[in-house]
Amino acid sequence: MCLFCEIAAGRIPSTCLYEDEDVFVFKDINPQAPVHFLVIPKQHIDSLNGLTPENASAAAKCLLVAARVAKEQGLDGGYRLISNCGDDAGQTVHHLHFHVLGGTKMGERVL
Ligand code: AMP
Ligand code: ZN
Repeated sequence: MCLFCEIAAGRIPSTCLYEDEDVFVFKDINPQAPVHFLVIPKQHIDSLNGLTPENASAAAKCLLVAARVAKEQGLDGGYRLISNCGDDAGQTVHHLHFHVLGGTKMGERVL
């Protein structure tokens, strides 16, 4: 079972901010900034390393949606987008996701 596949399917509850046929956006359960949400493709992809020419459009759509939801969340002053890839980056959920963090002036290190 993949936690984020379950969340995208609505089988595990989350605070959803946006959803379409390809992308799901929800609040991070352990926020590291005043605004912290996660953008995921509904299709299961392990990480950035799982991207291929065939599925790369899912990641591209995530980035478009990230910018759109950031605007909706009032992040006019900017935001940070992070994708942890692999153990050395501290990836804990092995379903590709993009953290969007904002709502404060951030230091050089956030995650
Ligand atoms: P990462 O360390 O980059 O793999 O990030 C995983 C993120 O998922 C962390 O920031 C967690 O707080 C977040 N997370 C884990 N479980 C949930 C959940 N059930 N709902 C929302 N966010 C979650
Ligand atoms: Zn998954």
